[in-house]
Amino acid sequence: MSDQPCVFCEIVAGRSPAHVVAEDEFSLCLLDINPFTEGHCLVISKRHVPWWHDLTDEETASLFVTAKRVAERIGRAFPSDFVCMYARGRRIPHTHVFLVPTRTGDVLDGFFNALERFQESPRELAALRDERHLAAAAAKIREAGEP
Ligand SMILES: [Zn+2]
Repeated sequence: MSDQPCVFCEIVAGRSPAHVVAEDEFSLCLLDINPFTEGHCLVISKRHVPWWHDLTDEETASLFVTAKRVAERIGRAFPSDFVCMYARGRRIPHTHVFLVPTRTGDVLDGFFNALERFQESPRELAALRDERHLAAAAAKIREAGEP
């Protein structure tokens, strides 16, 4: 754990500047300062929670409803095929989802096409496509139940 203050907590607290485009009780949406394309936004939780799946149900609903509403606005504001959404969080472990308007052949499209080609190529991943492995993985998730 770093001693540096969390950049997203600093924004939520109003101690760091940000281009905020939407907000509600639990979530805040701002422009990414390192955009893939014009209109690239991040929706963050107001509470410091490293991984999105550890949010409360109420926070999760807020995050995804905010993401949907802003994606509709991004789609109207910037020409795109659709608004891509994904979550990661390795660089800044405070829940955030990316909203990136994308078109065929742009930087993000090229990146995900390369990732999907990679996903289909390694031998160790080919085994996971086997029907028995797929059925076993589905059963494992179903049986994991609620926390
Ligand atoms: Zn934080």
